[in-house]
Order: sequence, then structure tokens, then C-alpha cells
Amino acid sequence: MRVGGGFQNNNAGFNHKHLEVDQSALMKAFLHFVKAVFENTGQKKNYLEDGKQGRLQCLACGKSNAKFRSSKDFSDMHGLIMHTYYSDNADLRVDHLGLHKALCVLMGWNYSKPPDNSKAYRFLPADEAVSNQEDLIMWPPVVIVHNTITGKGKDGRMEGLGNKAMDSKLRDLGFGSGKCKSMYGREGHLGITVVKFASDQSGLIDAVRLAEYFEKENRGRKAWSHLQPLTLGKDDDDKNPNLVKVDERNGEKKRIFYGYLGTVADLDKVDFDMRNKVVIESRREHKGPR
Ligand SMILES: [Zn+2]
Repeated sequence: MRVGGGFQNNNAGFNHKHLEVDQSALMKAFLHFVKAVFENTGQKKNYLEDGKQGRLQCLACGKSNAKFRSSKDFSDMHGLIMHTYYSDNADLRVDHLGLHKALCVLMGWNYSKPPDNSKAYRFLPADEAVSNQEDLIMWPPVVIVHNTITGKGKDGRMEGLGNKAMDSKLRDLGFGSGKCKSMYGREGHLGITVVKFASDQSGLIDAVRLAEYFEKENRGRKAWSHLQPLTLGKDDDDKNPNLVKVDERNGEKKRIFYGYLGTVADLDKVDFDMRNKVVIESRREHKGPR
């Protein structure tokens, strides 16, 4: 049996329940549940707040038997984590272990440490927690580009760069293989453009190249998060050198774009249609064209 990544340093040896089941079935269940855990904003918030908003449902019990959908719920994350890891229902074992791993990835906890009441499983270095989430990319691969807004229109709605304009801007930068799609909300353009690439190995390579371009310019995920909180589209955006670059010669103003590879943590930034259609894949596990 293949030993999964991240288990080598497990002090308890290899008697981890994740290693007792079929690894590809576990991966499949995990990728299914990690999307389910991240895509519902209200539910995700409730997990992160340890059940403050209401009891926490077991999605594995809910998935398989609609009749008992509400029969398994817990007052806090520890109860839910213990249930998913130690569930003795053989039919649902792989689902529960996949959900266990998905919940740990959301919370930034160590899924390779069997949970117990000492709650030691909650300790994981911050960079490992981040890389566990960044491994889980949207598929087809996408790059999320921020600051593509242009300002308020006459009707008060927010306006932004159109899909064709963005396509040609990216082509000028040497990234012509992606297709741009502006994201809209109730107030208009959200200042987010999603660049979608082909769902094969070459698409992934192109998406990674674009994300690396932003990272090299110091305009990647971290740089964007450092600018938060931020309300785009105010009149003084022009005065913020992180958002708008003014050409000294002709006074021309250009929005500065930020971008990064879209992961499971970005499902709340894409529209309903895209959120429904994408699947989540593990970059580490990615074997090439399928
Ligand atoms: Zn359950």
C-alpha cells in the first residue's frame, strides 16, 4: 500500500486509519468533500467558528442517506472530527475519512495525526496549513486576477474591464491561451476576472506560468491579501500606488493587476455557475492529461 504524503512523521507509526483504506477511493472522497466543505460560505463560517452559528452536520452521513440527514450533528468541531475519524460504519468509512481530511484542511489542522481529546491534532505549522490548501486547485485550472475594476458608471453600478479587453491585455503579456471572465455581483463588476485555462496538462502549465508572473512581480496572493481590507471603486483609488500606476509623461492611469492560481479557498470568489462546474484536484497528485 502506498504511503500517503505527510504521514512519514507520524509518531504513532503507520496505524493511521487513512492508510487502512484504498488510497485512490480515499483521494476521490477527499476531493469531493473538500469542495463541499469550502463552497458553502455560511457552512464554512460555522465550521471555522466551531459551531457558534448552529450544530455541525456530518456531510458523509448526509450524503449517503437523505432520510437521516440531520441525525448526525455535533455541537463543536472536535465532536465532528472524532465522529468522522472513528466512524464504524463500514459502508461509509472512506467517505468519513475523506471528510475528516477535508475538515482538517479547512481548519489548518494535522489530518495525519489521529484525533484524541488532547487535541494535539490541531497543531500544524502555518506554512504546512497554507500549502495543504494551495495544493487543492480548481479544475479546469484558473488564475484569479484582482483589481480589474474601472470605476462607477453613470447608473451607480460598478464597471470593470471587459472580457475581450482583458484577453488582449494578457495576450500582450505573453499569456494568450487563457479565456477571461469578469465576475459580477449585485452591485456590478466585482473587480475580479477569472482566467480559465484548458483542462489538460498544458492548461495547468500555462496557468502556473501566469501565476508565477504575478508572483515574480510581487503581485501574488500574499501581496493582494496585504492590501486588505480594501473597498475598490472609490474615487481615491487613483491615489493608491498599489492600485493605480500613473504614467508621468502622459498622465495615463493603469490599474495594477494581482493574480494567483485559483484554489479551493477561492470558490467564494467565482460566480455560481463556475462554482458548480469546477472540480477540485490535488496538484501534487496530478499525473497529467486525462
Ligand atoms: Zn457521519
